Amino acid sequence: MVPVHTQFAFAAHIPAAGYQWVSPNDVKLRKLVDTEKRPVPDCDVLLIQAGQPNHDEEQRVWRWPDTNPVLFREFADLSTDDLDALLGFANENGSLGFGHIAVCDPRTATSYPNCLVWEDPEYPGGRAALLLGVETYREWVTAIAHLKTATTVFDRLQARDATGMRKYLVWHDTGAREAREHLPTHLSDRDKYRRPDGAWYLDTHPHIADKESGGSARINDYIATGTTPTRYDDPLTVGWTWLVQAVNHQLRNRVSPQLWIDPDGRRLIEQLHPQDLLSAMWAQLYRAMTAGKIYRNCKACAKWFEISGDDEGYTTRRMYCSDVCRVRAYRGRRDRAAMIAAAGKSAKEVSEQLAAEGMETDLATVKKWVRNIKPRGKK
Ligand SMILES: [Zn+2]
Repeated sequence: MVPVHTQFAFAAHIPAAGYQWVSPNDVKLRKLVDTEKRPVPDCDVLLIQAGQPNHDEEQRVWRWPDTNPVLFREFADLSTDDLDALLGFANENGSLGFGHIAVCDPRTATSYPNCLVWEDPEYPGGRAALLLGVETYREWVTAIAHLKTATTVFDRLQARDATGMRKYLVWHDTGAREAREHLPTHLSDRDKYRRPDGAWYLDTHPHIADKESGGSARINDYIATGTTPTRYDDPLTVGWTWLVQAVNHQLRNRVSPQLWIDPDGRRLIEQLHPQDLLSAMWAQLYRAMTAGKIYRNCKACAKWFEISGDDEGYTTRRMYCSDVCRVRAYRGRRDRAAMIAAAGKSAKEVSEQLAAEGMETDLATVKKWVRNIKPRGKK
């Protein structure tokens, strides 16, 4: 059996009626609890399922995020101020998978019937509670900021942009003790007890005070460098260390490798099984890193597209996401050339003007386009 490329298996389960944002008052929220005992943020705008009861499988839609290899880049680009854009993403691709339960007053059940009414042990005397599966707006903001930072860092590292990387890195001379407190639990004792002179942090908004940053878009992470860190470390090495640490942290206990046998070819298929949408998107970044993928914005429609890193020639020069966009851009350049030529410009001037407008076209092609174009007003 010959192993083939890693596939990525995950389907999102979206309620047919979609999701909606509600305020804690709307659902008479008593408290938020987490099924995995993770920390629960303070009350905040909540994302819940909309519509009628839909425990029925037929009332749900399955979506495979793997069919969109740039989903993690689109998520990272979402504007966190735009609640409608976040809702649109959830309705298209599913919730992120935080899995909190909102314990609400059962009197809201009439307006939110798609939920369970349960005895709440903390309210003895037969006080029922209404349970809603929720995630919070702040969790979405933080999740977007994290993935945005990771993809930006990845782009800078791939471009070997040390200056750009350095802007995110902060050296704390006094960070040694603090650094030990932040050390991940999987490090060996030797790592824990060495005494660095300081520590590197990745900080996206160093000017914002820590107190103000709860649930905001600021990412401020201690970087566990493998060797004794110094302030003179190469920014690219420190950047890679952070990126690897961030990806590993997101994948830990949330994405597992699985093997499958392809019944036709009797080939071995490696798959990654993420638990939820957020880990699935981090798994996309993981795969981008291991496969050396490159990402670009289409010159015509600005959408992200992926270029395989092992295909050096044609694909790395690619500027457009699809043939449709490539053809549209070609026609755009040709029509613009005709318009400039009609104003009485020579082929060379047309070519220069196109270049100035970001539509570089070689002179031979321009000559071919404008050969039969008569300047307006001349016979
Ligand atoms: Zn395009």
